[in-house]
Amino acid sequence: MFYIDSHCHLTDSRYTSPAEIVNECKNKNVNLLVDIGWNFDTSVFASQNAKHFENVYFSAGIHPSESLKSVDVFKIQGLLTDKKCVAVGEIGLDYHYEPLDKSLQKQLFEEQIFMADKFNLPIIIHSRDASNDLLTTLKANKKYLNNGFLMHCYSESREQAFNYLDLGAYFAFGGVVTFKNSKKDDIVRAIPKDRILAETDAPYMSPVPLRGTTNYPYNVVFVYEKLAQIYGLNVEDFAQTVKENFYRFFKKVGL
Ligand SMILES: [Zn+2]
Repeated sequence: MFYIDSHCHLTDSRYTSPAEIVNECKNKNVNLLVDIGWNFDTSVFASQNAKHFENVYFSAGIHPSESLKSVDVFKIQGLLTDKKCVAVGEIGLDYHYEPLDKSLQKQLFEEQIFMADKFNLPIIIHSRDASNDLLTTLKANKKYLNNGFLMHCYSESREQAFNYLDLGAYFAFGGVVTFKNSKKDDIVRAIPKDRILAETDAPYMSPVPLRGTTNYPYNVVFVYEKLAQIYGLNVEDFAQTVKENFYRFFKKVGL
């Protein structure tokens, strides 16, 4: 078996030993991880994890929740040329928590879309309660999306998924798909099999049967099982498909 966690936060302060987690991943056939940065410091920390652990890659980016701070978005450029930096992210729009400034968020998002294009990297998108503005921003910047974009922890509608698919989107699902009332099955089935990835968003979003506990990247196995079941595939075939998708999307992995 070859499992991949395409989105985790090894940099989270809840984790005292990334080395132990990475080891446990190997024991459970979770063979690749992408450690996701969400501000400058976590992006640097994630790059260090990627340097230490062969099977860890990383992304660098500034999350929309950082937009009210005085962030120098261009500082992350120095990380984007690292050979293990496989994407710009997680970036996007998040209208969930007040206070927020929509135009500042959009500006931060767009600057990083341009940057991803300049450095030939795909984008990992965080979108929360901002579905329409997010789609509008992507459409307006379509010419900068040639390296692809991934809707991480996809939580929007099935109809909206088709709009993102038209722009070439990939989609990742995490522990939420395993929740009894998540009602994600029809949405997952709408995603072509060559556009799907699995993730944990660890330490958040533990899947059933571990819901409510600290999540770990190796729990991605539960997500694979659920997604495979929704598609009516056996887990091995599904994992092979996800692996192919992963290498196609994160094209710097394995170079
Ligand atoms: Zn995340």
